[in-house]
Amino acid sequence: MFFHYQKNQEGMITDFSYTLSETPEKAKPKILIVDDEEAICSFLSDLLSDEYECLIADSAKKAFNLLEKEDFALVLSDINLPDESGIQVAKRVRELYPETVVVVISGQGDFETAIEAMRIGAFDYVKKPFEIDNLSNSIRRAFEHHCFLVGRRDYEKHIIKLLEKRTEQIDHLFLYDSLTNLPNRILFEDRLTQAIEQAKHSKKIVATILISVKQLKQIYSNLGTKYGDAALIELVSRVKEQILSSTETLARFDHDLAILASFIEKEQKVIELIERIEQSLKNPIKVYDEEIALTINAGISIFPNDCNNAQEAIRNASAALEKAKEEGNTWLFFTSDLTQKSLNRLKMEVSLRRALENEEFELHFQPKVEIATRKIVGAEALIRWNSPKMGMILPTDFIPFAEETGLIIPIGDWVLRNTFRQCKIWAEKGKQLSVSVNLSAYQLNEKNFYEKVVSFIEETGVDPKLLEFEVTESVLLKNPELSAQTLKKLKNLGIKILIDDFGTGYSSFAYLKKLPLDGLKIDKSFLHDLSVADDQSGADFIVAIVTLAHNLRLKVVAEGVETEEQFNLLRLVKCDEAQGYLFGKPVLPEMFANFWK
Ligand code: C2E
Ligand code: CA
Ligand code: CA
Repeated sequence: MFFHYQKNQEGMITDFSYTLSETPEKAKPKILIVDDEEAICSFLSDLLSDEYECLIADSAKKAFNLLEKEDFALVLSDINLPDESGIQVAKRVRELYPETVVVVISGQGDFETAIEAMRIGAFDYVKKPFEIDNLSNSIRRAFEHHCFLVGRRDYEKHIIKLLEKRTEQIDHLFLYDSLTNLPNRILFEDRLTQAIEQAKHSKKIVATILISVKQLKQIYSNLGTKYGDAALIELVSRVKEQILSSTETLARFDHDLAILASFIEKEQKVIELIERIEQSLKNPIKVYDEEIALTINAGISIFPNDCNNAQEAIRNASAALEKAKEEGNTWLFFTSDLTQKSLNRLKMEVSLRRALENEEFELHFQPKVEIATRKIVGAEALIRWNSPKMGMILPTDFIPFAEETGLIIPIGDWVLRNTFRQCKIWAEKGKQLSVSVNLSAYQLNEKNFYEKVVSFIEETGVDPKLLEFEVTESVLLKNPELSAQTLKKLKNLGIKILIDDFGTGYSSFAYLKKLPLDGLKIDKSFLHDLSVADDQSGADFIVAIVTLAHNLRLKVVAEGVETEEQFNLLRLVKCDEAQGYLFGKPVLPEMFANFWK
């Protein structure tokens, strides 16, 4: 509905009409009439209701109740209200609803008061009795003023929004790198400061990681900016994929990258992150037509271990980075030497875990020979770690770590399974080899170790009579009762139990008698003594052991046999089996067949 009116020269409305239009009806502006005289209210409401939606209140209290609920363009208020003066109403409306315009209505006697009301915040006043044209002029002007106020408010809002947007754009330019759109050093430092503050109230750590790609500087200087930028963008996109959570920030520091990792529990997460990044750069990147392999160096600092604030964190991470660059293709934590050691340990733990997942372990087998016939009767399984990074690692260099970290359990399981499997394969080929496995104390003392062994036997179908377990005395002494119990059960399955490195440890025959043993392996250090000419003590020791062992119905195996001389002596003293380089070094099962020949 559209409202049309005509005015005469004095501005009086002389004609009203309205049209119904196709366009949806626009809500009429609201006017609040506040007067305790009913007649006045209905007069005003009749007069104004074509153009406005009129609501009526007969007291200030009711008026403010309505004002609270709805938006009014105008308030038309009597000066004399039962509960409050129109001056106060005008004042409060202005304070509370700045776009609502107040016109006060005054009687003959309170004209002065009306002026006062205007001083305080009313826009205009009208006198009673009303002159229609005065009244409508006043209301029209008040409404125009209202429209002006609303317009001004909207404009201000618009300006503020625009300003915010512009500030954001400028901030972005100031805080982000335009090539990669990554945060720059300023923003990184700011976020790092915040992260450190937050970490002070939690048990979490904050890691600052600086990553330098050796080849990037060369690409920039040898191939130019075009190639350098392209390489950097590709590098960033690969690294970004490895940044998994929103608590990690990747930033650009010139030719280097920086990562902020907060809310993490332990350093291990940092190592894992770096390893993921290393992994992601394994394949060379393609820059235009060039394929370029990238290698990284990284330096890490940890709050609260080695810094107190963002600047220190960055400084220490970059010191660690420099050190890493010296060593080449590696990553280092910034720390004193002492903590470096424990972190190396951690590094080792992560690598060991990875080795298990990636099947980097190998089992090598070394032949055991029956001395009387010089025939191969068995093999000892010896684990090796074929690390793609560090090369072939011998068990003495990682088994102690594995034991400290508990990883010996899954590694030990892997050894048992694969040894059993290999034993079964040989048996199927008609080679009834007894195969021995080395057990760690941690394995033997595991609660369900026996059940586990049973399940591996079932799984692989190996004949338990072909299996030998080698344990050292120190292993048995860790938990003698439990060890003896478990060994008994294993022996009942048919598995043979041998004491490894015999002679280097406790060596009490009285004690050995109580254990369900099948044999002893004389430590290779005694064999070494044998080869030292005219040293009789080594030979005496072996003679004594063999005699005592045979009395206890134990077989004796000599390990570390390297020479014919040693072999002959062992044959003379009736030692049962021998193992050593003289017959063969530990080899992969595929190569073991060479020994039959
Ligand atoms: P070990 O049980 O005493 O194994 C014999 C070690 O002597 C093996 O070293 C073997 O390669 C080496 N050896 C064999 N013949 C000769 C020889 O004629 N001369 C000399 N000088 N050495 C010889 P390896 O393979 O480095 O293993 C070292 C130790 O690591 C083993 O000592 C064993 O205690 C442990 N180990 C190996 N594999 C495992 C495993 O799967 N589990 C556990 N828990 N420990 C293992
Ligand atoms: Ca052994
Ligand atoms: Ca040994």
